[in-house]
Amino acid sequence: MTYTSLKSPDNRNYQYELNVAHLYGNLLNTYGDNGNILMMKYVGEKLGVNMTFDIVSVGDDFDDSYYDMIFFGGGQDYEQSIVAKDLPSKRLPIDRFIQNDKVILAICGGFQLLGQYYIQANGVRIEGIGVMGHYTLNQEDNRFIGDIKIHNEEFNETYYGFENHQGRTFLSEDEKPLGKVVYGNGNNKEDGTEGVHYRNVYGSYFHGPILSRNANLAYRLVTTALKNKYGQDIQLAAYQDILGQEVAEEFNDVKSKAEFNH
Ligand code: GLN
Repeated sequence: MTYTSLKSPDNRNYQYELNVAHLYGNLLNTYGDNGNILMMKYVGEKLGVNMTFDIVSVGDDFDDSYYDMIFFGGGQDYEQSIVAKDLPSKRLPIDRFIQNDKVILAICGGFQLLGQYYIQANGVRIEGIGVMGHYTLNQEDNRFIGDIKIHNEEFNETYYGFENHQGRTFLSEDEKPLGKVVYGNGNNKEDGTEGVHYRNVYGSYFHGPILSRNANLAYRLVTTALKNKYGQDIQLAAYQDILGQEVAEEFNDVKSKAEFNH
């Protein structure tokens, strides 16, 4: 199902085209995560890209050769359990998509389901698609909720967000975190990691949505997808020229003093 309302305007000269699959977008779409799609569209169009977005959901085929990017959002345990039953039918093409270095953004529930398994709040285990090594345990009577800030050393970039999850995720040896926690809980509150970066898969617990709040990451994802498709040497508008309004650190750094305990 195509998001016709998100179709790029016809009256422009686009140099490029990117096709984005919103995996299970009709089931996993909590906390305004669809804003990530709007940000992909915004950045893509600034870079001269005709962007298309489709929901690929239960019973649909996922054609990994057609799509250039995947957005896989978060959701409640119930919706995740429905998605988990359908995921095996898409395992092969999603695995191929990852191994071909295509770009995935996976938030919270989507991030959990790309891994080995997820233990729901009620203790029931649901299987992940198993294309990545991480796994997610539960916790009793607690959720990690609040503002979070992380730093990615490889890119020397800082990302801000808001986390709300009960799952505690542990990365495998071949996975890097999206960043190290500056404040907040992150993947599990134990090892100081947040999210995952594996090939061109970016996973995170950040709502907010992550791309609207972190234009540097949005630029990285869209330009990576473009270089994959059109070659590493394509000339693209610089970040500073299209998104470079500096946001004052104190504006972004809004660590909430409120503690939530439910
Ligand atoms: N249901 C999962 C958890 O609580 C994922 C939550 C989410 O996607 N926000 O951990």
